[in-house]
Amino acid sequence: MQVLIVDDSKVIRMLVAECITDLKHSVVHMESGTEAVEYMKSNSPDLIMMDVEMPGINGFEATKQIRVIKGDDWFPIIFLSTKIDVNSYEEGILAGGDAYLAKPIEPLRLQMQIKAMERIYMTRQKLKAAQKDLLIINEKYRRLSLFDELTGLANRRNFDQTLEREFKLAKRDKKPLSVVLCDIDFFKNYNDTYGHQAGDDCLSKVAKALSGVASRPADLACRYGGEEFTFILPNTDLKGAQQLAEKVRAVVSGLKVIHEGSTISPYISLSSGVATYNGQFSDGEAITKQADMALYQAKDKGRNRVEIS
Ligand code: GH3
Ligand code: MG
Ligand code: MG
Ligand code: MG
Repeated sequence: MQVLIVDDSKVIRMLVAECITDLKHSVVHMESGTEAVEYMKSNSPDLIMMDVEMPGINGFEATKQIRVIKGDDWFPIIFLSTKIDVNSYEEGILAGGDAYLAKPIEPLRLQMQIKAMERIYMTRQKLKAAQKDLLIINEKYRRLSLFDELTGLANRRNFDQTLEREFKLAKRDKKPLSVVLCDIDFFKNYNDTYGHQAGDDCLSKVAKALSGVASRPADLACRYGGEEFTFILPNTDLKGAQQLAEKVRAVVSGLKVIHEGSTISPYISLSSGVATYNGQFSDGEAITKQADMALYQAKDKGRNRVEIS
């Protein structure tokens, strides 16, 4: 443990420090309550040995201020005082102290009191570790709930939430909002020809290529599901979205992933549908539906193409 010793008497500080270093803990010295309060604003020792009678603010007052600074982060504070009447004891505990020792100091009693406090320290360490683990787990679940595990792209839930948010903004600001729906051509055949694992690898490759295309900070590339991908393009008109969709198609063709099961290209290809909100819809879902109809057209007209609605 790191122990802060607060006492205006250097002799007492040295004596207390010796008891503590005997127990293999490290020490920091402060001469006044004010100095200790200042120190606690940016430091977190594991235990404080606090003198009560000091010039300036006394140990009780310093303790009260330290408890306010540290909030819920509890660590033991042990008072050392010549005043050992029950009223002083009461004042000390109510100020935020955990134990109260009489001066002159009996080294063994002081050491045993510290040993008892070590248990609080151990519990506190475990709690801190558990809190850290919890933060990591929370972050992991947050990621899992919003991002697709295979491709790392935003998932369907993320798409739905983002689209509704962007729809509200577009409606309020009277700005266009575009959705591009992309679907890999003959992907069932790809799986049937090369196996499911190769299919997954192909999806990852395509996703990586897609994420490089949408360059504006507000653009979002998503895995909509299976072999379907989407783009949400705020403040983008139909022409802009069509250009992006053509770029996406070119980038995916450029990957030159061999696809012998395709009847329209030697490589993996994409069909896309584009739709844009210009004040005519009542929710984001309607844009997606429109883009889906355009995608259907793209499939119908021979695949490996972009259709607008
Ligand atoms: P179309 O050109 O009309 O889009 O034909 P398609 O075969 O791509 O479309 P269909 O909807 O018939 O099949 C989609 C296939 O995508 C079905 C499934 O084998 C594959 N697929 C969906 N999700 C995954 C996945 O996570 N991993 C792999 N490997 N394949 C997937
Ligand atoms: Mg003193
Ligand atoms: Mg599909
Ligand atoms: Mg498909």
